[in-house]
Amino acid sequence: MIHLTMPLRDGTQIPVPRAPRRRRLGSLRSLLVIVIAVPALVGTVAVPAHGAGTALPGAAVAASESPSQNAGPAGRGGNYMHDANAPWIRPVTAKVTSPYGPRRVICNTVGCSNTFHDGVDFGSACGTPIKAISPGRVTFAGNAGSFGERVIIDHGSGVESLYGHAQTGSLNVSVGQLVKAGTAIAKVGATGVVTGCHLDLKIRISVFVNPGPFLAARGVTL
Ligand SMILES: [Zn+2]
Repeated sequence: MIHLTMPLRDGTQIPVPRAPRRRRLGSLRSLLVIVIAVPALVGTVAVPAHGAGTALPGAAVAASESPSQNAGPAGRGGNYMHDANAPWIRPVTAKVTSPYGPRRVICNTVGCSNTFHDGVDFGSACGTPIKAISPGRVTFAGNAGSFGERVIIDHGSGVESLYGHAQTGSLNVSVGQLVKAGTAIAKVGATGVVTGCHLDLKIRISVFVNPGPFLAARGVTL
């Protein structure tokens, strides 16, 4: 190390104080801590419900999920090519117990739902196999906070299906996997913000759309 000196008015040389350099290092270290810590904190912010958030009634707005819990084609290199002749089917045989549209807020220990239900609920018993509604590629399979255990499938042309509240440990597919219409992807559960066992099916074409008309146009009556 070089020890710098500086002259005083009487000509004697004294060492240059090193404190300023230490202070600069200290502030650099603080900056590093901020740069590393802040994104980590942002990444752990709790995820709201089943459509929870600030959406106004009547607005089909996605909940504020983290990108990894909400993976779409764009985020996962999608470009799945869907066969126009491939079938579309019901994910479960049970009837719809809660339609797409405005809905009272549902809360449990995990959180609360939104005032707008952006999917359809099927009242299936826990353990019922959930079938992929059409061929596609899995873009997410894991826990999505208040949406519970969840699978997302990219069907190409920007169409995705999302299956929520599956049973813990029942996810039967992994990201990147190709599925057919009818592939058992998970089992019905009651994870996340729920009042009981059911499947929440959402269809997203950039924004959530009503699965009823979407599937009706493809020969499936819910
Ligand atoms: Zn639902």
